[in-house]
Parts: sequence; structure tokens; C-alpha cells
Amino acid sequence: MEDEPLNSQVESGGSSRRGGRRRLRSALPSDIRRRNRQTVLRALYPDKWHSRADLAKITGLSKVSVSDVVAGLIQDGLVVEGGYKSSSRPGKPAVLVGIKADGTNVMAVDLSEAGVIRGILTDLTGKVLVRQDMEIPRAGYLDPQAVVTLCKRLSGQTRVPILGLGVATPGTVDRYGRVIAAPNLGWTDLDLAEQLHRALRMVVRVSNDADSAVFGERCFATGPDNMILVAIAKGVGAGVLIDDHVVQGSAYVAGEIGHVVVDENGPDCVCGKRGCLETLIAAPVLEARIADDPNRRDDLLTQAGEVLGTALSLPVALTNITDVTISGPERIVGRVFLNAVENTINDRVHSRFIERVDVHTTRLGGDAAALGGVANVLRHELGVL
Ligand SMILES: [Zn+2]
Repeated sequence: MEDEPLNSQVESGGSSRRGGRRRLRSALPSDIRRRNRQTVLRALYPDKWHSRADLAKITGLSKVSVSDVVAGLIQDGLVVEGGYKSSSRPGKPAVLVGIKADGTNVMAVDLSEAGVIRGILTDLTGKVLVRQDMEIPRAGYLDPQAVVTLCKRLSGQTRVPILGLGVATPGTVDRYGRVIAAPNLGWTDLDLAEQLHRALRMVVRVSNDADSAVFGERCFATGPDNMILVAIAKGVGAGVLIDDHVVQGSAYVAGEIGHVVVDENGPDCVCGKRGCLETLIAAPVLEARIADDPNRRDDLLTQAGEVLGTALSLPVALTNITDVTISGPERIVGRVFLNAVENTINDRVHSRFIERVDVHTTRLGGDAAALGGVANVLRHELGVL
């Protein structure tokens, strides 16, 4: 996810040839300023208080640079002075500075649920301050203008500046925030980030919903830096975090596991194949089976959990990921299902070389994808998280 922030200026980088010798172009002052700001913000985020002198020691920047950067951050409302450093030495005690969490908000919307768009406003530490949902048709084309309308309602509920908007959408999203395909929303090749940026005049980051959810869990629920999140909804998708980076793959479709065949004799799938993972464990499929035979609820959920556990065994071994998060409706993703997934993976993968895998539901609940959008904005705009 370390791509360029949307709408950022093209900055320095690359190289030039002069006098027949290849050399790196030196960084522009704006790059250095940006980097220094991020270094100071990282040292303070989310709730540390340091004097300017201590910040210089921690960051390795000069005292002059730190004072300069802190002055700019205070002016921008991102940092605030508060309290004094206790000192046994005589003289004026040093003033402490910290993140001004409530001085700026971050906005995020989650488009992953059928029939509703969920929006939140948070402070700079990801604390949810405002929630606003908007009903939309359960199926068919979603006019992006609906997202604009919800965002305008949200922004009307705060008096402080908004750092940016993070959007979690189903479907395939490229690094520039263009939705290549989101069949559930009727979108193909939609320049969503650009459209929303033009309408809202703010930085916009768009990412796939499962990618966003795994990043949210990592940043705001102290998830480990290697994890898989499987989202069970109308379809089945996954977000994969390796060494603290969301894996996007060569065509941005990493984690699209729903149409992998897991049972050659299974039911026909909308994609034309048979026995895709989605035909066996998608939420509507399981709900229909349980409704048909409510007495066998636990058996059906156990079987479904075994299917998913079997499917995840190889990727878990391949990546040495030991944390698997599963999001989905509570009536499906409960103890019975989670135990079946966990036992199946560990029966197949556990050895003296590979430690046990922990399978659990989302720590952030229904906010995971939206908070991933918040984290996405914070990482790219402030360099924190
Ligand atoms: Zn399929």
C-alpha cells in the first residue's frame, strides 16, 4: 500500500544522467520537509508527549529542524503543546508536544454491505465520533453520487478540518483508486477516487473491502503484521497482510478466492465452473441450507468450516501466517464455524516446524473495513500507522 497519495504532486525520484555518470537526483526541499514531518508525527503518534529536545534525540533530526517542523504541525492543527517535562534541573522546564487527536477528523465509508452504505468520522487515533448510514437499493447499479451525498452529511457534522476520505469497496481496485470491476455495485472501470475527489475537494483513498478490513485490524486492533482476513458475505474474499503490507498482486486481485474450485462435483457457480468456494460457504448459501434444515445447523456450519479450513491450509503454510480473521454475519461466523476452521487448518498444517494457527472473528466487528479506510488515509497523509 506504499503507493503515491492520490492527487499528490509528482515528486522527485528516479535518476538522471549527467556527464555520462548515473547518479541519484537529490531530494527536493518539499520531500525533505514531508519526510521530517512524518518522522516527528511517528514519534508522537498516537499519544506520546515529548519535548522538542527529546524529539531531536528520538528522531535524529537537528533541534532547529524539530522546532521548525513542530511549529508547522502546530499551525496545521495536528500537534499541540501541553504540560511540562518534569526536571530536577534548575531553569525553565521544557514544554511537551503531542498529537492533537481531536483537531482533525478522518472520514470513511464502507460499501461492502448490501442495502446500506456505512459512514464514519473519526479523530486522528481512529476513535469513531460520528456514524451515519444511508440506505441504497440491495442490488443493481450504485450511483457514486450516493457516496458523495453521505460524505457531505458526515462532513456537515464536524467543525474541524477533514484530513481525507477512505473508501472500502467490494471488487477489484487499482493503486490509483480506480474500481476495475465491482459486479455487486454494477461498476466497471470507474474512476471512483477521482470522482469523489472532484466532488468533495479532499484527498480520497479507495481500496478493496477485505484489504481495507485486514489493514484496519492491523492498525486499530493490534493485529500482527502477518495475517489473513476472510470476508464471508454475498461472496467470499480475502485480504492478505504480509510484513505489514497488504498484498495486491500483479492485477490487484490477490485474495479473490471465492471462485477457486474446491469441490469438482459441487454446485454450479455463476462463473460457469462447479464447486467454487462461494457455492459452498457464501452467507446466502449457508443461510438457505440452515433454513431448510434448522436441526442440523451445527453440522452444516461445521462442514462449511472444514471446507474453508481445507482451502486455507496451503496459503497458511505457504506464508507462515498464524493469525486468521474471519468476518461475516454473527449467525454464521460463531464458535462452531470458527472452531471447525481452526481445527481443520491445524490438523492439516501443524507440525514441529509450524506453530498453531489462531482463527477468530474480527476484533473491530463491523467497523473493520471503514477503519481500514481511516488507516489508509492516515498512513498516506501523515506517515503514521
Ligand atoms: Zn465460481
